[in-house]
Amino acid sequence: MDHIHPEFHRFLGREDKERLLGQRGLVAWMFGLSGSGKSTIANAAERQLHDAGRFTVILDGDNLRSGLNNNLGFSHDDRLENVRRNAEVAKLFAANGVITLVSVITPRRELRDLARSVIGDDFLEVYVKADYATCAERDPKGLYAKAEAGEVKQFTGKDSGFEEPEHPDLVLDTRALTVEESTEALLAFLQGKALPGGGGAPPEK
Ligand code: ADP
Repeated sequence: MDHIHPEFHRFLGREDKERLLGQRGLVAWMFGLSGSGKSTIANAAERQLHDAGRFTVILDGDNLRSGLNNNLGFSHDDRLENVRRNAEVAKLFAANGVITLVSVITPRRELRDLARSVIGDDFLEVYVKADYATCAERDPKGLYAKAEAGEVKQFTGKDSGFEEPEHPDLVLDTRALTVEESTEALLAFLQGKALPGGGGAPPEK
């Protein structure tokens, strides 16, 4: 692609955006089984950050699959491409100072490693942990019942594997923690990384 010439130096820099927003951009990559609580916690955390004057974006796997990724399925190659695109989008937001909460199953280490390699230092691996039986009991989207009936192919945790992370930056065990406790733990974790001066209102511009 010799004819492609990215010209990042012509545009306003990351520091300019971060100064405007009074925060640092990052990507909290929240992964775990369907029904583990990723969207619920991301939503609660985003509302609290918003109320504290922080600018956030949630990139939800299902939402992205209904648009940008609507030509992808759940094969090995399609899951890789799905994660690669989500990671590229998350990287753009973080590079513009946005606290970016990604909610995508990302079942295998290879996929998480791909996301990390795309995003770089802004990547934070947040494991939203709940076992298959717990998620099947919650079954917020009715997918576990459908998978049991053979109506969902390549369902994660059933006929498509889920690999536990080795060194996640944060684990939110949603069997042990309430939604409020997980949200608090996530916000405390993000505090020092995204917010200059330890949170509260954005600094004077
Ligand atoms: P995911 O985004 O991981 O697919 P969701 O957040 O959509 O999962 O669904 C999780 C479901 O589990 C929600 O209906 C939520 O209310 C429920 N739930 C029950 N207990 C918890 C808990 N301790 N933490 C998070 N979610 C919980």
